[in-house]
Parts: sequence; C-alpha cells; structure tokens
Amino acid sequence: MKLSLVIPCYNEEANIQPMLDACVTALEGHLSSYELIFVNDGSRDGTWKTLKELCKQAPCPMKAINFSRNFGKDAAIYAGLQQAAGEYVTVIDGDLQQPPETVLEMVALLDAQPHLDCVAAYQESRKETRFIAFCKKRFYRLMDKACAIEFHEGASDFRTFRRGMVEAILSLREYDRFSKGIFSWVGFNTAYIPYTARPRHAGDTSWSFFKLVRYAIKGIVSFTTFPLKLATVIGAITALLSLLYMVFVVVQKLAFGIAVPGYPTIIVLILLIGGIQMLMLGLLGEYIARVFIQGKHRPLYITKETLCNDDDALD
Ligand code: UDP
Ligand code: MG
Repeated sequence: MKLSLVIPCYNEEANIQPMLDACVTALEGHLSSYELIFVNDGSRDGTWKTLKELCKQAPCPMKAINFSRNFGKDAAIYAGLQQAAGEYVTVIDGDLQQPPETVLEMVALLDAQPHLDCVAAYQESRKETRFIAFCKKRFYRLMDKACAIEFHEGASDFRTFRRGMVEAILSLREYDRFSKGIFSWVGFNTAYIPYTARPRHAGDTSWSFFKLVRYAIKGIVSFTTFPLKLATVIGAITALLSLLYMVFVVVQKLAFGIAVPGYPTIIVLILLIGGIQMLMLGLLGEYIARVFIQGKHRPLYITKETLCNDDDALD
C-alpha cells in the first residue's frame, strides 16, 4: 500500500460522501494504491450510518472505525495511524478544508527527496479573526521558546509521514495527546509547503474560543515544565521583595518611630500573596491531574466497531 489517508470525523455527516469523492478524484490514477481510513470520533449525527453505507460502495480500499464516544481529534488520529498500512500516511480533516490534491504534492516531495520523513502543509492565509490569529501566533512563539522543539507557524495536523515516523509517533502512548507537539518532538526531517484552506464544506467548526484556550493549556502543560519553573521564580521574587519590605518597615519603626499604617497594606498583601499561591497551586494541580490520569493507563480510545470493505466481517 503506497498511501493511507487518516480522516478524523466528528459530526461530519454531510461531508463524508463529498470527502470520499474528492479523495478518489484527486488520487485515482496518480498513485499505485491507496486506502481511506475514516475515524468516527463519537459523532452525534449520522456520520457512522453514512460511513457504514459508503464502506460497501467505496471504489477504493476503505476502513471505518467507530469510537464508543468522543475521545477528541488527537485520539482519532492515533487510532487512524494504528490502522494505516501505507508506506506513506496522511492525516487530513474530514471537512474538505484541506484539499486532497495537496496530498499528491506531499507524496511527490517525499518520493523526490528520500531524506525527508514528513511533509506538513501550512496555511498561507488564515480565514479566522485577527484576534484568534494573534493568540495562535503568540501561543506558538511561547511554545517555541519554552520547549526545545520547533513549531512552524500556521502548520496544522495536515501532514504526510513516511512509515518510520508513523511508528515513532505511535510509540508515544501519552494519554493527553497534543499531536502538533508530538509530531515535532519525535524529530525527523519535515518540509513545509503552503496550502490555502477552503471554507468548511458543511457544518460548523467544533473549536470555540474557550476550547482553543483549553487546547493551548493542554499543549503547554503536556509539553513543558516551564510554568513550574515560573512558579519557582515568582515565589523567589515575592520572598525577596517581602524581605526587603520587612527591613524597610523595621528601620522605619526603630529609626524614625513611624508606626506603619497597617490595614490597607495588610489586606492588599494578603490578597495578592493568596492569589499568587492559589494560581501556583492550580498550576501544580494541572500537572498532578495529568500524572493521575496517565497513572491509570487507560486506553487512548475505545472502539465499538471497525469496518473494512475487503473484509468478510462487513455486514
Ligand atoms: N474532529 C474530531 N474530533 C473532535 C473534533 C474535531 O475528530 O472532537 C475532526 C473534525 O471532524 C475535522 C477535524 O477534526 O475533520 C478538524 O475539526 P474542525 O474542522 O472542527 O476544526 P478546524 O478546521 O476549525 O480547526
Ligand atoms: Mg475544519
């Protein structure tokens, strides 16, 4: 098998058929062999029903995995990579925002340059609000600085990997997956090519602003211990400042006999220090929660059903 396409789907009922058609139109005749792997990530609409029907009629090898509930796109990508049999494996969204034609460019580049292990596509122009674009830019700059790994601006999960890199990604079994970080962390040679994201074919994005913030926190906490170090630094600075203030107050009292006006200062300091402490405790909690979850060694996802169109098990 030359290429496997891993397609995570969450509430993509109206996009499955057009996505399948677009992939077949783009790839047919250009590749010796390819397969499509759709992962239904606990959709609430008729995504699985549509996948089941299409699996019987698909003009190319097709697998469909049905999760028992929504485990998130990163788990869906992991499941797809596990099932992929291709020499090259592409991760592509199921909403037609990422053109399947770009996959051919990626494959051509991997064929032409054996030293490359991955080709990632990045968005040249982003169709999102300036505020979101600004926040994303800041976030990736921060991640670049905080971890010793590289994050290319605008690059998404839309990538084609060589088999060796797929195996490396699969060997990272962490529960709280931040795929973009994992793709960078495993190393290998990645080339970046531009693509223009199209509007969603149907449906709405499942990413609200708050979901993006949660994702950013997950990225930071699962990839760096930088916030913990920051806590130490803030603690040290606060302690030092308190020490200086203590000397100042004692000298004021002993040398000049000034009784320091107490109430507002004390209230402000208690609230400030209390606030900082709670913040740092929360931060610690984020890390401990991850240790707790990882310590349970639960599976990354649970599959309810798997279909394959050249499988006798197909009903
Ligand atoms: N997705 C998923 N599980 C989720 C959320 C999203 O598998 O919990 C899939 C979704 O079906 C799509 C891809 O991930 O194929 C990207 O999602 P979306 O289009 O909502 O994100 P955006 O393109 O806005 O970043
Ligand atoms: Mg999308």
